[in-house]
Amino acid sequence: MPQVRGRLSRDRALSELTWLRVGGPADWFFQPADVDDLCAFLAGLGPETAVFPMGAGSNLIVRDGGLRAAVIRLGRGFNAVEIEGTRVHAGAAVPDAHVARRAAEAGLDLTFLRTIPGTVGGAVRMNAGCYGTYVADRLVEVEAVTRAGERVTRSAADLGLTYRHSALPEGWVLTRATFEAPPGDPDDLAARMEAQLARRDATQPTQDRSAGSTFRNPAGYSSTGAEGEDHSLKAWKVIDEAGLRGARRGGAQMSEKHPNFLINTGDATAADLEGLGEEVREKVFQNSGIRLEWEIRRIGDPATGSDVEADKR
Ligand SMILES: Cc1cc2nc3c(=O)[nH]c(=O)nc-3n(C[C@H](O)[C@H](O)[C@H](O)COP(=O)(O)OP(=O)(O)OC[C@H]3O[C@@H](n4cnc5c(N)ncnc54)[C@H](O)[C@@H]3O)c2cc1C
Repeated sequence: MPQVRGRLSRDRALSELTWLRVGGPADWFFQPADVDDLCAFLAGLGPETAVFPMGAGSNLIVRDGGLRAAVIRLGRGFNAVEIEGTRVHAGAAVPDAHVARRAAEAGLDLTFLRTIPGTVGGAVRMNAGCYGTYVADRLVEVEAVTRAGERVTRSAADLGLTYRHSALPEGWVLTRATFEAPPGDPDDLAARMEAQLARRDATQPTQDRSAGSTFRNPAGYSSTGAEGEDHSLKAWKVIDEAGLRGARRGGAQMSEKHPNFLINTGDATAADLEGLGEEVREKVFQNSGIRLEWEIRRIGDPATGSDVEADKR
């Protein structure tokens, strides 16, 4: 392994770091001190080692056998938020909620980020969004480090942002993002965020261990709120219609409160969670002919360790 200034460890249990609290160990776990440290690590890392950047782990099922990769988690060297006119620059490790609050204090509207429990890096990678606004609507450009350890800047258009997806190349690590935000009154923005949080608590199992929406909504693949988008067919509805609200497998359950939320009721394994998700896909297909697609990223090896099935989506 390359010499680093940050923290590099072996066999780090990822269950401690994912919202669902499941997942075996990562072979290597690296927390770079700063961008130069990250560049040196990636440049010195042999091409045979896979690289997986991880944010807050709020959209992941890491399988029970863990991840044969170097997991990179950004922390303190990537936590700055700077505001310049109507532009907001945020380090990739900054929690989305924090960016929304800082922007609002400066009279800038990035309120759509307030209720998303991940980091800026994960938000860009997933083109996160809610209440009709997505990262694609506000992102100007990103800074990233390539798998070869080179620093690059890419425009939002280069990232090919679509519904909950970006075309970021495998092994690239986002380090900073710049958003253009519409102006707003700080008090109004603060009030709107409070209302969004209350709406969340009323409709979603925010106190449970989940990874947000389990499946993409079957219609509506545009990312920009453009005219003609159809978000009418909801995953929760087809799951509910198939009688799967509250369905269980081991410690995994489709939430009673919101049937598109897969939750860990306490002792679920990744296999319980993924297995229940697959069962739901099959039964929904039998019931309605609709093939649900996973929104949660599933990565790593099953507990047997034999067949690696990394989700390449
Ligand atoms: C209760 C709850 C509510 C949610 N509500 C929403 C919602 O309203 N809207 C929404 O869009 N999502 C929602 N989510 C899902 C999740 O929060 C988002 O997908 C979020 O953007 C993931 O960010 P993260 O930092 O946790 O990324 P992770 O889950 O750690 O990773 C997700 C993906 O991003 C990649 N990634 C992370 N950081 C980087 C980086 N620095 N560079 C390159 N790639 C990176 C990972 O490799 C992985 O592919 C919700 C989740 C929960 C638990």
